[in-house]
Amino acid sequence: MSASDCLFCKIIAGDIPSTVVYQNDTVYCFRDINPQSRVHVLVVPREHHEDARELAGDPKLLAEVLLAGAEVARVEGIDESGYRFVFNTGDDACRTVFHAHLHVLGGEQLAGFGR
Ligand code: AMP
Ligand code: ZN
Repeated sequence: MSASDCLFCKIIAGDIPSTVVYQNDTVYCFRDINPQSRVHVLVVPREHHEDARELAGDPKLLAEVLLAGAEVARVEGIDESGYRFVFNTGDDACRTVFHAHLHVLGGEQLAGFGR
């Protein structure tokens, strides 16, 4: 998929509305439209990368995504109570959007991990 067809590139460009939680020169962080917990924010690098593996090709950018996730947790007031970082990759993980993104989940007791 090219960047011009990409949902998250369109959200970052402001062509599709979103509720921003935190942003800087590198990332844009907004509320997930179908939240899986009380706090569910997506941390999206402004640069289009297909997935987490491709993102890891730029370790500095990957670190900035993780630091932004921690900043989102602080802004949302869940840094003390705890939160989960998730990168979905491939069909078994129900991946739907092919612009690398980190899910930040929390704000309540999360369910166990896996199935
Ligand atoms: P993934 O399944 O890991 O690719 O995650 C994609 C996420 O994007 C899902 O949790 C969707 O609910 C979310 N999503 C899809 N469209 C939008 C949108 N327009 N605004 C905010 N979140 C969205
Ligand atoms: Zn994109």
